[in-house]
Amino acid sequence: MSAIAVFTSGGDAPGMNAVVRAVVRLAIHHGREAFVIYEGYQGMVDGGDMIKQFTWKDTSLIIHQGGTVIGSARCMEFRERSGRLKACKNLVDRNITNLVCCGGDGSLTGANMFKLEWSSLLEELNQAGDITEEQMKACWFLNIVGCVGSIDNDMVYKGGVTIGTDTALNRIIDAIDAVQSTASSHQRTCVLEIMGRNCGYLAWAAGVATGADFIFIPESPPKEDDWESALCDHLNFRRRAGARLCTVLVAEGAIDKFGNAIKTDYVRQVIVDRLKHDTRATILGHVQRGGHASAYDRLLGTMIGAMCVEKLRRTEPGDAACIVGLRGFRPVYSKLEEAVSDTQAVAEFTKNLDFKGAIGARGKGFKKHVGFLKAINRDKPKVSTDHNSKAFVILCCGAPASGMNAAIRATVHYCMNEGCVVYAAHGGFSGLAQGHLEKMEWIRDQSWQALGGCSIQTDRKIPVSYEQVNETIQKYNLRGIFVVGGFDALVAVNHMENCVAIPVILIPATISNNVPGSEYSLGCDTAVNAVVDAIDTCKISADSAASRVFIIETQGNFCGYLALTAGFAGGADIVYTDEEGITLEQMLLDIARIKCQIVADQKRHFVVVRNENCNLRYDMNFMKTLYEEEGKDCFSVRVIQLGHLCQGMYPSPFDRVRATNFACTAAKHLINCADNKVNDKLVIGQVAGRLAIQKVSDAVKDANMNKRTPMTNSWISMLPLQKMLAKYGHQGVAPEFQSIMDAMCDDDDSSCSKL
Ligand code: ADP
Repeated sequence: MSAIAVFTSGGDAPGMNAVVRAVVRLAIHHGREAFVIYEGYQGMVDGGDMIKQFTWKDTSLIIHQGGTVIGSARCMEFRERSGRLKACKNLVDRNITNLVCCGGDGSLTGANMFKLEWSSLLEELNQAGDITEEQMKACWFLNIVGCVGSIDNDMVYKGGVTIGTDTALNRIIDAIDAVQSTASSHQRTCVLEIMGRNCGYLAWAAGVATGADFIFIPESPPKEDDWESALCDHLNFRRRAGARLCTVLVAEGAIDKFGNAIKTDYVRQVIVDRLKHDTRATILGHVQRGGHASAYDRLLGTMIGAMCVEKLRRTEPGDAACIVGLRGFRPVYSKLEEAVSDTQAVAEFTKNLDFKGAIGARGKGFKKHVGFLKAINRDKPKVSTDHNSKAFVILCCGAPASGMNAAIRATVHYCMNEGCVVYAAHGGFSGLAQGHLEKMEWIRDQSWQALGGCSIQTDRKIPVSYEQVNETIQKYNLRGIFVVGGFDALVAVNHMENCVAIPVILIPATISNNVPGSEYSLGCDTAVNAVVDAIDTCKISADSAASRVFIIETQGNFCGYLALTAGFAGGADIVYTDEEGITLEQMLLDIARIKCQIVADQKRHFVVVRNENCNLRYDMNFMKTLYEEEGKDCFSVRVIQLGHLCQGMYPSPFDRVRATNFACTAAKHLINCADNKVNDKLVIGQVAGRLAIQKVSDAVKDANMNKRTPMTNSWISMLPLQKMLAKYGHQGVAPEFQSIMDAMCDDDDSSCSKL
């Protein structure tokens, strides 16, 4: 069986190590030899020690690291046929005909070219006597699967964001939050330069996540000829309205409508000269690339790396090279050649000053989201509201979750832009029943995006009767209700079907991620990052200690999402969830496996993650006692119950951006329902990676009311992979979970047709 090799190329991106780890481990799991190629194409051309067979252990403790541990380089030689000829020989000598390339569009273009000329390279090498006839025949097909490692999220393809984007956004948001707090103290204006030569995604998303005042991106320049005056008018208005700080974001490749570059320092100078603001410019530079990988990038890199191996295993001679991406928790495949040319088309549109074309070429989602940003980050509502305008109310129900405040701000702004009035019901449904409503004003305070918790007071209680709620609806002449919350909120909205005569929409927000109708709830990305931080801390602390097992308990009620996702992204050894179930026999087997690895000197530290209700009888105390007793001669045990720490402190960029998208889409839909007198009770959510709105009555059909969980979970596909990557071997994965994964891998939409 031919070996599988992985390499990272072009600009480095956090999450690349997760790809390397997943490719190596899954290849070994399937009985293949796994190689890494150091320094990208340079290592492939140079051969020798630059192409190295990796063992399981070689990929230990790399998942959290930023950058790429196997290096990346730009290689001029590979651009020439002579360089590719050397690379071909080096691969054939090692019987490598399966490659996973993790890089940007340049690297993937090179990969495609290499695949297309592979047979002619073989023939040339054979004629020159550098490889034998047998070698040529054995290696006749080169299979290449690509994955996009790029912090810029600049690839136009079927997958969602690219590997590295989320970490970069985390760094950017941390920096902007920090700069904003000092700028606010001194009433300054801050101008920040964000990476992105051809693609404004990072600046756009950072703008959404921090409520920036003005954003310059290459694909959508200011529409005014004199953008300097437009910028200054806007900032002036903001200051007069009482803002203590102004934030301007400039993408590296920003241009005006005539194609002239807009440079950070020039923007700063314009503000100083015309407005006399105390203005500081900060170029974030390589800070954006660095540091430990975010939970999502680890998840993305791991899932995609694993799916690349699965794709290679299923590739047949003649299949075109493809790129693997992820939508929700499912792999999606794009033709490599097509994705590269679609990506290059954006740059071409921008170069020709066809900005409509550029935004369109980025995809429908990008266009919609740029529109949302413009709607909610205006200096004042587009349409003035008066007492005759439609009124809506927003309330939060359930435990606080990061992103609730961003969702409230976006809902209020979107509705006010449409000329509507929005009230906030303080204290959830109780507040609504008692008529504790506050008319919301345009929220100019940028810190709302960055605030954890819930600024309008959330409450778990749901009404027993809706009489008082209906009285409030009549009193305020409400036309629709936005509910932000978790499973209780879903139950309440479902009850309202028969007793509340206005439309209602639920925006899922709970760190448990247990709302049927959405594979993702606001707050859970922040929570996963918080748990992954705890796992990292344990691993680091364990490094200096004797053999030890950490048992970390997460919140999540009966839903294992938080435990499994954090365990998956954190590289935990064992994860216990209610969905899989725990038996005493399984725990004893796990302990035996740990002991074997310690005795064989393979590993000394183990992380076990359990979700709080994974088994009501085998609780944390029981598990601790069992592990301690059974492992007493071999390892010590430490337990960490994270409890409310799971909520995290500040909302992650993912939660802030997702909150804005959920809220704007929900608001658009609910206003439409109110206009057309459609009294639907709805839930907005992410289904297979895309925004979807469905009736709550349909969503609850998928609810396990006793356990308060969905009955179908797309994220469960991580379960078999977690076990494979934690070296359970084939036997450790229960057949039902293995078949879930097989179905996922086979669910190819045939986008990678034959050449
Ligand atoms: P990125 O992959 O991040 O876009 P580059 O564009 O610098 O980064 O590409 C990385 C490497 O991929 C280059 O140094 C080169 O070795 C290889 N490469 C890029 N474009 C081509 C091409 N058209 N033909 C062959 N190799 C290429």
